[in-house]
This record gives sequence, structure tokens and C-alpha cells, in this order.
Amino acid sequence: MKVTISVIKADIGSLAGHHVTHPDTMAVASKVLSQAKKDGIIGDFYITNVGDDMELIMTHTRGVYDSKVHEVAWNAFKEATKVAQELGLYAAGQDLLSDSFSGNIRGMGPGVAEMEFEERKSEPIAIFMADKTEPGAFNLPVYKMFADPFNTAGLVIDPLMHVGFNFEILDVYEGESVTLSSPEELYDILALIGTPSRYIVRKVFRRGDDEQATVVTVDRLNLIAGKYVGKDDPVLIVRLQHGFPALGEALEAFSFPHLVAGWMRGSHYGPLMPVSQRDARATRFDGPPRLIGLGFNIKDGKLVGPSDLFDDPAFDETRRTANIVTEYMRRHGPFMPHRLEPSEMEYTTLPKIMERLKGRFKKAEDVKGGKESKHVNETSSD
Ligand SMILES: [Mg+2]
Repeated sequence: MKVTISVIKADIGSLAGHHVTHPDTMAVASKVLSQAKKDGIIGDFYITNVGDDMELIMTHTRGVYDSKVHEVAWNAFKEATKVAQELGLYAAGQDLLSDSFSGNIRGMGPGVAEMEFEERKSEPIAIFMADKTEPGAFNLPVYKMFADPFNTAGLVIDPLMHVGFNFEILDVYEGESVTLSSPEELYDILALIGTPSRYIVRKVFRRGDDEQATVVTVDRLNLIAGKYVGKDDPVLIVRLQHGFPALGEALEAFSFPHLVAGWMRGSHYGPLMPVSQRDARATRFDGPPRLIGLGFNIKDGKLVGPSDLFDDPAFDETRRTANIVTEYMRRHGPFMPHRLEPSEMEYTTLPKIMERLKGRFKKAEDVKGGKESKHVNETSSD
């Protein structure tokens, strides 16, 4: 049977700041999804959170972009927002950019990751959900999972994986995507996805039979709204085993806590720390950016599981490294490269400060420079 997995997420308000969702908002969202299951719109669901983001994990047979399924998610977030408002939760309804549903939840604030496939006899999947970062945060681990044989042994020894994978890469600024093949075009892939704020690995397909292996949420909230309204904390779904990465290969890709954008006010770089569900709460400097992973099997369109994948001492050293990097980055305070580059600070007060100080900049007579003269540093290689 063909099954669709839809993970739709939003921050509709959280407890004590941008910290953690409130159980009452999750409970009311759960009621909406229960009703949708009774009505036969969805086959199964599981609700969880990472930090201030509520994550609706749903299975159904209606395909991707289905308006009924999206409406269910929208209604769940709307009802949860009402509770968030009653409780005075912080930033209640922040990710819902419209008052009414218009057929597709994309572009309305929530993040959406959906994938339809023929259910295998055993269909293991992992869902990775992050808080205080952006979709490009998954570029590095997805590359490691599907293109790096030092991470994924299956690329060398599994005949189904040995042919490689196609990477669909989205340019979020132009709204265009390009598909590049691994391993032949590895260097081109890296040339793009090394800029994770702009180029995002949206999907990966197995080359032998074009089976879809992953999908990532790509809705950049700050671009959707035309102004900065929140962080677009991402979700990644990965199909596992038998021609796809083994669970352990998918997890291995997160053993290095790489630096990602989106920490504190969406304006800082910090290490992505894989944690258990229990520790999926933003604390220090509203972070550090957190990642959880849940493992499921899908059977006859129903969700079996989950297993809390990072609730394991095998990731203690990754977390320890992340804590050391956290300390190191925090010492930079408001300086780059802890703070994001100016182009990423468009919706903060930074441009306003530049505007206000404009008239106070005077020509420095003793310094050669300005628009006409070329900077020596541009041509110097040292
Ligand atoms: Mg968040």
C-alpha cells in the first residue's frame, strides 16, 4: 500500500519564554488529531515537541499536499493556540500567519515535511526534529548519511546504495531547485550545500529506482512573512535499512555537533546538540540548539514506536563536545562568528542602527579607501 508520512510543526506558544511547549496545548492538539483518526482522514498520529515546537507526526493514504490533512494540522494548532492564549504562554500563535485556512498549510507559518511511498514489508523510519536552528542545519548530516562512506558503510557494501543518491537542492532565495548526483557531482553538491542559509538539501532519492529516502521542511518563516516572525526550526524524515542507511548510520551523522544558525533570537551560531526527549528544552542562552530523533516502524499505515534515539550514553561525548563548543562560542558575546553575519540580521535592529549613524560617518582623510579605490586585502593572499 502507498502510505504518506506528514510531519507538520509549529511554535504556537511556550512556557516561560522560548523554552518548552505546555502539556495542555499538546493535549488539545491530540484531541483534534484523534477526531481526524476517527473520521478516517489520518490513519495514525504521534504528537511530541522539541523545545517550543509542537510536532504533529501523522500517517495517511491521501498523498502529499493534501488539503484535508493540512486542515487537520491547522485546526490542531488553532485549538492549541487558544489554550496557549488562555494560559498566557509566551508568543502564543506566533507561527500562524493567517486567521483562516486556505487549502494548503504551506506558506502559512507551520513547517511541513511529507513523503509518500510504497510501504515495504518492514518500513523503519527516523524523524529528526530540531529547535533553535534552520533547515540548512541538516545539510551536513544528510550529506554524511547519503554521500560519505566514512559515515555510511552501506555506500560501499550494500548493492542498492552503491549506485549513489540524487540530491534535490533548493535555493530558498530564488525558489529554484537543482538535482545533483552523488558520487559524480560531490564537489558541486558541497559547493552549494556548504551555504546552508541559502541552499538546502530538500530531498534525497536512491539512484537505482528513484525511491525517495528523505524529506526536509524548507519553509523559511522569515522569508514567508516578509519580516522576521520566528525561527524555522526544521524536521528531517529518513527511511532506513535495506537500500537506505541503517539506523546507526543515520544516527552516526549526528555524532559531530556541528555549528548551526538560529540560536538566541535566531541570531547566533551554536552546536547542534542531540538530546533525549526529556532534555528537549531550550535553556542556556535559549539553547544550545537541540535535536531529538524518534525511530518508528510503519505497518499497514500505522505508527509502531517510537524509540527515543538519542537517549543513550553513546551520545554523551557528542553532548560534552557540544557543551565545550557552547562555552567557547558564548565567550564571543555579540561578536561574529557567534552572532550571524549582517545579511542574516535583516529583521533585527542592526539595519536601523546603521541608518541612524549614517550622517555621523565622516571621511577618514588619512586612510586610503572608499568605493573608488581597491582594498589591498582583496588582492593580497596573506
Ligand atoms: Mg522553536
